[in-house]
Amino acid sequence: MSEERRPLISGNWKMHLNHFEALKLVQELTYLVSRDDVDAVDVSVHPPFTDIRTVQTSLEADKIPFFLGAQHCHFEEKGAFTGEVAPSMLAKLGVSYVIVGHSERREVFGETDAMINAKVRAVLANEMTPILCVGETLDEREAGEAESKVTGQIQSGLAKVKADQVASMVIAYEPIWAIGTGKTASAEDAQAMCESVRNVVRDLHGSAADAVRVQYGGSVKPTNAKELMSQPDIDGALVGGASLEAESFASIVQYRLHQI
Ligand code: PEP
Repeated sequence: MSEERRPLISGNWKMHLNHFEALKLVQELTYLVSRDDVDAVDVSVHPPFTDIRTVQTSLEADKIPFFLGAQHCHFEEKGAFTGEVAPSMLAKLGVSYVIVGHSERREVFGETDAMINAKVRAVLANEMTPILCVGETLDEREAGEAESKVTGQIQSGLAKVKADQVASMVIAYEPIWAIGTGKTASAEDAQAMCESVRNVVRDLHGSAADAVRVQYGGSVKPTNAKELMSQPDIDGALVGGASLEAESFASIVQYRLHQI
């Protein structure tokens, strides 16, 4: 990995943990994650909306150096969108990173590439960092279409985004068949796809590709984190299941201390 790109390990708690449970997890993590760890690696936690204020208060009160994240937002600033949350509402809560276009949002809630692009731009306009998720299904992989699917998702996700904004972003390559299944892409396949993500960014925005951080996501665990993170184009991990438990998430954050 390039020296300029700080690793980012993100915990996506999905629709798990009420605000009491979220607080407990944050507090457990602070005992396990050291100052040396956060000097080496950026860490973001992405609780459900109902927990964000509680987690924010805890991070601020105890000066815990984790970045606060969200899992989703709307692209409009206000309006008749029952149940939705505006990017500016997240910014006001001190949210730094917003996951955009997670495959569960795309597949279960029908989010389109156009909506995802609007969200990327809305998140950036509110001075937060989008984590743009891309990835192929098993059928697409088996049909040899993984790269073309991901290329299309990046091209549409980054439409009308300026190069300096792209440079500040995070793109998470998450093969859908590896999310929550216990199956992980091999380190070689993950590296090849993350390199391809960077090459697409290079074609679109030149040297922004050297700065954009590319995460791998899909059943990242303490046992595979170091090998994945050792790949030159993998700058971080988006972690679902293993981020719900303090020991396993802390261990992933501490991947640099592991033996392969
Ligand atoms: C995710 O939530 O984006 C994810 C990759 O989940 P898991 O780590 O459980 O596969």
